Amino acid sequence: MRQQIVAGNWKMNNTLSEGSALVSSILEKIHHPKGLVVLAPPFTSLLSVGVQINGQEGFHLAAQNCHHETKGAYTGEVSAAMIAQAGASFVILGHSERRQYFHETNEMLASKANQALSNGLRPIFCCGEPLDIREDEKHELYVETQLKAGLFHLDEANFRKVVIAYEPIWAIGTGRTASSGQAQEMHRFIRSLIASHYGTQVAEDTTILYGGSCNAQNAAELFGQPDVDGGLIGGASLKADDFATIVNSLS
Ligand code: PEP
Repeated sequence: MRQQIVAGNWKMNNTLSEGSALVSSILEKIHHPKGLVVLAPPFTSLLSVGVQINGQEGFHLAAQNCHHETKGAYTGEVSAAMIAQAGASFVILGHSERRQYFHETNEMLASKANQALSNGLRPIFCCGEPLDIREDEKHELYVETQLKAGLFHLDEANFRKVVIAYEPIWAIGTGRTASSGQAQEMHRFIRSLIASHYGTQVAEDTTILYGGSCNAQNAAELFGQPDVDGGLIGGASLKADDFATIVNSLS
């Protein structure tokens, strides 16, 4: 049985006090979620958000990134062990903003996945193509390369802990969402890649989230697709009402 998940990626938004107010408001609106609700605040709010959601049914904490080495002279970076001790159970890896602005490569992401898993964190591994690749109809090959290089070195037991987020870059923060048909087609394709590498049962059990301008209006239709198991939400996760509507769109 695969899990349904809605994860909120706050990105570089919300101070401690703003984050605390947002979480209070979210907790007032979401009761007995149909899947897991994962909150990914900035590092500075991991501990405080963790305290607020502690014991709340279905709620989990994520970091937005971890470093690919265990420890050492990497000024400004945060390790998977530090994140795990701060109370997170998930970590977002390979978000397109990290790939673009921080030059994260598939090879680095493979090491980050190893770091996360060996510290008990479940990766939410992002993949997705830019607009020109989609227009050239090479998006399947592009995503296949990302998954093979970043994840498919894992053994089955570790791969089973991974959540995949398909996020077409042209849909992130643009208001231009993939149609539910486009999302379903890519999720089906990703599941078929997993099946050919790990077998049908692992593929059926893998949670694949959609991300990219998912909002309170379109979430139900996107989540209604057979291979879409929830969403990774950016902008709309910063508004308690919208985020609650999205979580309540899980069927
Ligand atoms: C994201 O950054 O992961 C994302 C999906 O952003 P948005 O929902 O704002 O498009």
